[in-house]
Amino acid sequence: MRGFGMHSVGNVGWLEKDRPACGPLDAIVRPTMVAPCSSDTHVSHGGSGPRENLILGHEAVGIVDEVGSDVASIKPGDYVVVPCVTPHWLAPGVQNSRSTSHDVGPFGSFKLVGSKDGVMAEFFHVNLADANLTTLPEGVSPEAALMIVDMMSTGFHGAEAADIETGDTVVVIGIGPVGLMAIAGAGLHGAGRLIAVGTRPAAIDVARAYGATDVISYKAGPIDAQVREMTGGVGADRVIVAGGSGETFVQAIRMTRPTGIVSNINFFDISDVFAIPALDWGLGMINVDIRGGFCPGGAVRMEKLLDVVKYGRCDPTKIISHRFTGFDQIPDAFELMDVKAPDLIKPVVHLDA
Ligand code: NDP
Ligand code: ZN
Repeated sequence: MRGFGMHSVGNVGWLEKDRPACGPLDAIVRPTMVAPCSSDTHVSHGGSGPRENLILGHEAVGIVDEVGSDVASIKPGDYVVVPCVTPHWLAPGVQNSRSTSHDVGPFGSFKLVGSKDGVMAEFFHVNLADANLTTLPEGVSPEAALMIVDMMSTGFHGAEAADIETGDTVVVIGIGPVGLMAIAGAGLHGAGRLIAVGTRPAAIDVARAYGATDVISYKAGPIDAQVREMTGGVGADRVIVAGGSGETFVQAIRMTRPTGIVSNINFFDISDVFAIPALDWGLGMINVDIRGGFCPGGAVRMEKLLDVVKYGRCDPTKIISHRFTGFDQIPDAFELMDVKAPDLIKPVVHLDA
């Protein structure tokens, strides 16, 4: 079968590979719609270390083509929503932890692209189909479901991990698709003032549509100083990091008030080092929690997010800025994500044209 991926670090293109085999508990899915992610481009540039001959993509909805002999709830022909994180639910790492994302080691549950071929192919493999796949409910469009599998799950996780209290002043650093979903999540979790950090006009419009009350630019001076000034020197109650570099992370800590929470969902580069001056973290005694988390996956997580959409709490399709049609358009969509065109937020590729 044909798939789009990386021959080696920095070298992407079409790959010819065998159709994946289906184990007794698994499914093979034919994608009908895929979306490239910033994490795919990070991986293609070596951000997770060396990779070869790997099909990219981890955001898809599609039609089940085959299921294993022991799969009970999913059948061929089902239109399914595929979480980008598909935990091995039997693993001790899942049973022994609050996060299901690290089943057999760090990021173990991120299997598509993480440890096997991804979704930008004619077919892809899903482990533990009964626990990881859910069917598309009525009232939710395939595009909305596609925006749930990673963008909404990750962005909302940023808000969840921040433990936002009603009326909190929340800063979301980064208004790419992940940060925009974090803004929507922070609003639903009860934020009062909601300060977004970013510059691209198209994204600023969507940030405001999702409830941002203020927008500041990291190009207009240090954002920690800007937030301190806006909050009368106090700082923000919660800061969600969804963009920037190691230096941005330090700024996030600096702009958080004592007893506040920094919640990171950004994918830092393998070469990043966090040099946090002790004073910026209150010499270690300021009770500022620093948290970082990975996108939650699995069928139940998807079903809950699908309900958020179905019952009108959030429309994640506002982040879609570009639509492509046809399998052969996958490289164009990927390149757009890679070069980050100024008007880009999130591209999707409709494969069933
Ligand atoms: P984008 O690249 O689309 O957005 C990044 C945002 O960060 C932009 O708004 C950009 O501003 C802003 N930014 C850039 N530099 C700075 C800076 N120095 N200070 C402050 N803000 C800055 O990324 P995505 O939204 O697609 O993804 C965000 C991150 O989340 C990525 O690292 C991605 O890999 C990661 N991710 C993590 C997951 C997880 O499970 N934890 C899952 C999926 C993605 P501007 O408006 O100027 O462009
Ligand atoms: Zn992703």
